[in-house]
Amino acid sequence: MNDEVTTRRAVHSVPEPGFGEYQTTCLIAARLGELGADIGLGCEILVPELRMGIPDDVDRRWQQALDDGCDPEIMAALVGGLTGVVGTFHGQRPGRVVAVRADIDALPLTESDSDDHLPHRLGFASTRPTAMHACGHDGNTAIVLGLARRLADRNFAGTIKLLFQPAEEGLRGGRAMAASGVLDDVDDLICIHLGLGAATGTVYPRTDGALASVKLRATFTGIAAHAGLAPERGRSALLAAAAAALSVHSVGQHGRATTRVNVGALHCPGGSNIVPATATLLLEARADDTEACDLLVTRITAALQGSATAYGVTCALETVGQAPAVRCDADLAARVAEAARQVSSVTRVGDSLTDRASDDAAWLLDRVRTHGGRGTYVVIGSDLAGGHHEPSFDFDESALRIGVDLLDRVVRTLGEP
Ligand SMILES: [Zn+2]
Ligand SMILES: [Zn+2]
Repeated sequence: MNDEVTTRRAVHSVPEPGFGEYQTTCLIAARLGELGADIGLGCEILVPELRMGIPDDVDRRWQQALDDGCDPEIMAALVGGLTGVVGTFHGQRPGRVVAVRADIDALPLTESDSDDHLPHRLGFASTRPTAMHACGHDGNTAIVLGLARRLADRNFAGTIKLLFQPAEEGLRGGRAMAASGVLDDVDDLICIHLGLGAATGTVYPRTDGALASVKLRATFTGIAAHAGLAPERGRSALLAAAAAALSVHSVGQHGRATTRVNVGALHCPGGSNIVPATATLLLEARADDTEACDLLVTRITAALQGSATAYGVTCALETVGQAPAVRCDADLAARVAEAARQVSSVTRVGDSLTDRASDDAAWLLDRVRTHGGRGTYVVIGSDLAGGHHEPSFDFDESALRIGVDLLDRVVRTLGEP
């Protein structure tokens, strides 16, 4: 079993959702430290108040990770869910600044315990009941750590920064990392992702069509009352939320952009004999154009407020995740493709993968572009068992070594002055 596979399995067995990736962060930081990288943690790599959708249990998880034996020195920088790491390697010769980004978070899912599911059969499945690496971020992490091991030879030009970003799922961590300035001296940024429908051996040097997205939490507050004795005194938050769910799904379409809306959850505590006073909707907007997405959010906000007004309740809106559309630099993608063709384990180099998901790597790519650099989102193919975000998700581990070989070639090429 090669190093990447060992790392992947270690990360896979301890999946941690966004801003709770304490053990994962400690594992990565310790490895990078052993390899002699300069380590950035906590406020050095995140603007805390620009994080979105921070869960309520980050402090409990922090304590748990400390009790489970995480390094207190590293943990001190992560208080309050400031997870993630940046490792910097300086080459022997002067050159350009190249960055590679992996995401490190898991999903709130229960992993399959079917014997068909390899992680279960081989004993490295999730040890956490309601968390799972079901998107391949364990693999993304293992690939970039594998690259770090190669870079320890320092036999390259320039500076290479390895970003391990927290809380990609729900688009919650990218903005805070971008705004920290950690990328402001970067010439070329390579964001990677495993799978996404591409077969093992295939590399796509860029993606197109990934959607800008905004995730919202709408909290409706009304007045509770007895449903039989005095319903006229009540104001139903549930009815307002239910009406809002329908009107959000009927907001106007867009002539030039592909758009999506989805109300994914309606939470409302109560009983049959009470007019319910609180209800929460979780919803999202997506579009292949950032401005169209913003317009969609304006319309959705009006629909939510309109329903609240109609039912005499209030609606408080919170943005719990957000990312612009992913935009890739064509010249950089061409350089990546050229390097990929020289990697023997890469059997096919595609042009551009059309992807209708969203990724908050878009914040990082935009930041680099704003500072005069280039960025692209590279897909490293891997045959999949189960789709992304499914309990049976798994990927072909032979893709990990291919990813390391690819990035090793790419960053050494790009670093040359
Ligand atoms: Zn995902
Ligand atoms: Zn993912």
